[in-house]
Amino acid sequence: MQVNGCLEGVDSMFKDLFRTKPKYVTVRPQAVSIKQDSSAGLWEKCPNCENLIYKKGLEQSFYVCEKCDFHFRIDVWERLRQIVDEGTFEELHTDLVSDNPLGFPGYPEKLAQAREKTGLDEGLIAGRAVIQGNPCMLAIADFDFMAGSMGSVVGERVTRTFEVAMEQELAAVVFSAGGGGARMQEGVLSLMQMAKTSQAVERHHQEGLLYLSVLTNPTLGGVYASFASLGDFLLAEPGALIGFAGPRIVEEATRQKLPNGFQSAEFALEHGMIDKIVHRKDLRQVIGRILHMHRKGLVPSA
Ligand SMILES: [Zn+2]
Repeated sequence: MQVNGCLEGVDSMFKDLFRTKPKYVTVRPQAVSIKQDSSAGLWEKCPNCENLIYKKGLEQSFYVCEKCDFHFRIDVWERLRQIVDEGTFEELHTDLVSDNPLGFPGYPEKLAQAREKTGLDEGLIAGRAVIQGNPCMLAIADFDFMAGSMGSVVGERVTRTFEVAMEQELAAVVFSAGGGGARMQEGVLSLMQMAKTSQAVERHHQEGLLYLSVLTNPTLGGVYASFASLGDFLLAEPGALIGFAGPRIVEEATRQKLPNGFQSAEFALEHGMIDKIVHRKDLRQVIGRILHMHRKGLVPSA
């Protein structure tokens, strides 16, 4: 009886984690431009080379500086525009919405601000998509939503991405952007998502299905230390910061001067941590080709 009582307690605890969102139609914002100083006129200054770039031209250049190749941060809608076959993305798991399970002071306000800022209900969207004719399950994180940190809802959406992929025998593609790692306002419930998402990736792997992980700037902390680094293919955008603790923390902890480019995508590639760095303009084609090569039942031609 006591055990049952405990289980009921655990049950109700998890039930409270996911508040069901009231049903209403959400109008999704169209692909929007970069957030930095977007209201400041027609020109955008590249934060890397300080080149002035005509904002309208940025959309054509995939939000990459034509002078120095700096990849601007883009939101999930722009990422969908660049990667997915038009009109094929079907968003799933929108009924999962973060609550404040630990009663952490200020968390509801932070969530409200992030929703207002991004137009998203959480830091990651997930669903079914087609990329260059290849159906897959797709999840995309948005750094501007609480630094892309992983709370219970982000973890659950990632987990379900792999679970639905298993049911439908599909590959999974995940774009990570977690500079905040695990979301501290959800404490151990957030840390638990690292184990949960990693297990989902492993079950998907055991089914012989493909997982393609794309690391965008920055992918750090609990996001990197769980699902983001477990892909069969690890691709990264040029210059992306990749690792567990960020360089400033590593430098402070080790009291050593770090080598140039430490934890950049280029450094990770040189040290065998990732498979390939792909320029944003080529990303759709590269992902499409890998998905095509691994489609179930496809016999490669000679
Ligand atoms: Zn530049």
